Amino acid sequence: MAWTIQAFERYVAARTREQSAALAAGLPATAPVRLDWTVRTALREDPDGRGVRQYEHKTWGRQYASADGTVRELWIPSFGRAKTDRPAAEKAAIAHVVAQGLPARRRARLTPPPATSLVNPVPPERVRVFDFGCADGSVTQLLDWEPDTVRDLFRRAAAPAFIAAATGTGVRPGASCVDCKVIAHCGRLPRTPALWGPLRAPLPPRIARRSISAWDLRLHGDCPAQYHLVRHLRLNDLTPENSGARRGRVVDAVLNARHAQSPLRSCRGLPQAHGSVLPSGHSLEEPMAQSVLRLLDEHRALCPLDGLASQETVLTQHRVTAYIPELDVVVLAVPDLLHTRRGRWIWRETKTSAAPLWEGRSLLRSFPQLALAVLLFDKGALGDGPRRGRVELEHLREGSGESRLEAIDPSRPATVAEAREVIADLAEPLLRDTSYEPRTGRHCQTCQVRSWCEQGTAHLSALASAPVHDVKRGSADAA
Ligand SMILES: [Zn+2]
Repeated sequence: MAWTIQAFERYVAARTREQSAALAAGLPATAPVRLDWTVRTALREDPDGRGVRQYEHKTWGRQYASADGTVRELWIPSFGRAKTDRPAAEKAAIAHVVAQGLPARRRARLTPPPATSLVNPVPPERVRVFDFGCADGSVTQLLDWEPDTVRDLFRRAAAPAFIAAATGTGVRPGASCVDCKVIAHCGRLPRTPALWGPLRAPLPPRIARRSISAWDLRLHGDCPAQYHLVRHLRLNDLTPENSGARRGRVVDAVLNARHAQSPLRSCRGLPQAHGSVLPSGHSLEEPMAQSVLRLLDEHRALCPLDGLASQETVLTQHRVTAYIPELDVVVLAVPDLLHTRRGRWIWRETKTSAAPLWEGRSLLRSFPQLALAVLLFDKGALGDGPRRGRVELEHLREGSGESRLEAIDPSRPATVAEAREVIADLAEPLLRDTSYEPRTGRHCQTCQVRSWCEQGTAHLSALASAPVHDVKRGSADAA
């Protein structure tokens, strides 16, 4: 509710500002349009090859039109900042609906509404589309086109995308499995019943399918409210990541780009990393840049592509998807690198850290994504059976000799038993949760939904007033 009130107030302010600018520029004022603009193709006598007699094109967002119908606008809310651009096909598809659409009630089928109910039956002379950022109130203009431009770009950019979407028959398991209506008939999605063994207690009844990932498990383990707001409601207050997380992300980006190169090339033979390897948007001036370069040097001796034959498969950021049918849960994982080596799959996770691995805690406990990987191998989600795989943790630390490579054998019964326990400890409370109560702690400092959390805010204020603690977001919180 706190988020909605803020987003609403920001939206009204942004729209009022834009309207005054538009009026000053000589454009007519625009007012909300209630019914959805919808473009319908001509109704066919006989269904096409897919059994369809009519297609509808719609878009989503807040619609506005001038009283004389010459200007139409669409405002598309985004959760974080306003998007600065969208793909050409998407923009052309949106503009087509805004320019050509007739107001229609949702789910009205086949018959167009009577002409008297049309708000603006006249096609507009100008189509304007804006993106609005709910988290900061930012606005970007995505397009401002005349009808000829809309027609031309629709034909060139959007129509091929529509044809590909309407006629494509490929199967690509992933996050979309959560909404898939034919999941029961899918031959490509691996089934992993009882992934972590039998449930410790029955789950509450639930109607909707859901997904879990290692990230979900970690967020929920830290704080159920954070998990719910970030993963279900997708809120984000644009709190910057801490420097450790940012550094890890830059190292990941450089390694992914290197490892995706064809033909395969190990990093071992590369010269010492220097400024030019940093991804665009990062410079050597940043305090973390030198640290990134040192971590990349540490990686060279541990590169998974070292000695790898050219015909082996190397997949960077490949999504591994599995389905637990009795729980109606889709499991999503993205290994940093997945590759074959002499007939077995190797799952590599790369972590950067300022601290050494803590010997007092098992690897699977410290990094639940390793436990999830072990279970996915164990249930054959990677295709070849457990004895054919290996899970690796590459732990990069600055300072020569500090980095390590740990190998985990997913065919060892003791390893599987431990992985089951680790995942059950995290997944079952998540699946059983129905209230998502906040749990305050260290994670509040970098929580990206803390702006809307009373308990988290109170927790940080208490820390800030206690002088012994170092609160990184100090001044903002005190305010
Ligand atoms: Zn490498």
